[in-house]
Amino acid sequence: ASGYSLLRDPRHNKGLAFTEKERDAHYLSGLLPPVVLSQQLQEKKLMNSIRQYQLPIQKYMAMMELEERNERLFYKLLIDNVEELLPVVYTPTVGEACQKYGSIFRRPQGLYISLKEKYVRGRVLDVLKNWPERSIQVIVVTDGERILGLGDLGCQGMGIPVGKLSLYTALGGIRPSAVSILQKFSPSYGRLELCLPITIDVGTNNEKLLNDEFYIGLKQRRATGQEYSELLHEFMSAVKQCYGEKVLIQFEDFANHNAFELLAKYRTSHLVFNDDIQGTASVVLAGVVSALKILGGSLADHKFLFLGAGEAGTGIAELIALEMSKRTNTPLEECRKRIYLVDSKGLIVKSRLESLQHFKQPWAHEHESVKTLLEAVNTLKPTVLIGASGMGKTFTKEVIEAMSSFNEKPLIMALSNPTSQAECTAEEAYTWSKGKAIFASGSPFDPVEYEGKVFVPGQGNNAYIFPGFGLGVVMSGAIRVHDDMLLAACLVKYAESCMYSPVYRNYR
Ligand code: NAP
Ligand code: MN
Repeated sequence: ASGYSLLRDPRHNKGLAFTEKERDAHYLSGLLPPVVLSQQLQEKKLMNSIRQYQLPIQKYMAMMELEERNERLFYKLLIDNVEELLPVVYTPTVGEACQKYGSIFRRPQGLYISLKEKYVRGRVLDVLKNWPERSIQVIVVTDGERILGLGDLGCQGMGIPVGKLSLYTALGGIRPSAVSILQKFSPSYGRLELCLPITIDVGTNNEKLLNDEFYIGLKQRRATGQEYSELLHEFMSAVKQCYGEKVLIQFEDFANHNAFELLAKYRTSHLVFNDDIQGTASVVLAGVVSALKILGGSLADHKFLFLGAGEAGTGIAELIALEMSKRTNTPLEECRKRIYLVDSKGLIVKSRLESLQHFKQPWAHEHESVKTLLEAVNTLKPTVLIGASGMGKTFTKEVIEAMSSFNEKPLIMALSNPTSQAECTAEEAYTWSKGKAIFASGSPFDPVEYEGKVFVPGQGNNAYIFPGFGLGVVMSGAIRVHDDMLLAACLVKYAESCMYSPVYRNYR
């Protein structure tokens, strides 16, 4: 290969960090200015320029440009500045990036599999084979229907699997120093090309995108029913055929009317997990258990109320009940009774049973009907309030004040992403509760000063579990994901949090 093409290959390009020796060996002499910059200096230079951008989306684009130019430096930068750059390549900025994906789109990242493929036999497998790397270990796949709390972004959802997979490298324990140990288990582990982001485009119901001349996806309404499940099935079969039994498939940001079904259908035949249902559950349970040290009591002493009864809400609720059941040796059904959920129609109660989606049915308790969250808070008097509604500003002043009126220390989690969809901000939680709330959120918030004290919010985001979880699954050679693994991951996370701070923050 010529030196010229080496400089244009992001996987191997080192830019000004190529040494004199490398420049000689790879025919690079004269193609670079004379100076040799250490990677450390390259990092410093880049951080300086990234910090100069005012808008988060500009920082995002600078990071994506870097990834296209010099992958090693991209990951080095991300690993060394994770606190600062996570909100750039991940929530909240990735949400805005998806919304604007059409116009900021440059070199395509990841694989697109669309309905177009469905009408040619074996086409999906052919498309997978177009990806240059054969030894994929993790796939993150979305169909773009429920991107964060932003709704249907169709093909532009690609930003999510791309962002998620960069975290596999940055947070998945694959530090330069760890690579050699990991390589003993799996010779190729720690190489960036082991992750594959995929978007399945079955259309979009987003009118704005359908009418956008720059939209990058199929301009048709979403396929459903048989057409949808056949394409998904061909995809799942092709993945196994192409990469074998041990490739981990992470479902991400599917709408709940498909997510639960896909998970149930494929968890017995493929190595799959749904990050919104299971990853979120694991990290939030770890947060709740950690917070018990401040709240007092055991898991079973607490009463939980959720706003939002979808993937995240019912997924978390179920894992809390499972852990409670194991700890107290009580039937799962009994434990579920300590957990209540509110959806867009109010409290989930027995009288609604007939009309409830199946994933909500286990949560239909014997209780009079309750319309609003505030009413539910006042009648149930929960100790823990968890928001997973995708609906911003729903933890109102009245709600937080009510939680604080009968709890010494209410645990409040506003998990919805991005920041605009958070049920409340950190500042609102602390000031409205007069400093009583223990607070965590899905998207990061800065520390808040209230009455001379500084409150540091925790971040409850599945980003703190899936990279390690995936690493464990892949390294152990597992071929199925079981709930016990989620509980184990949660306990590891809990143990880590004990070493660092009362509510899980800054643990890595
Ligand atoms: P989902 O399956 O669509 O569930 C959303 C739930 O919220 C549904 O039960 C819906 O009610 C309910 N809801 C919507 N508006 C409401 C309102 N005004 N009042 C009460 N309930 C309302 O979505 P999801 O996958 O669970 O995700 C929800 C949110 O959680 C998103 O913003 C996502 O970004 C966030 N999330 C965060 C993390 C994290 O790691 N922090 C992980 C996953 C998801 P109906 O069922 O009646 O429609
Ligand atoms: Mn997600």
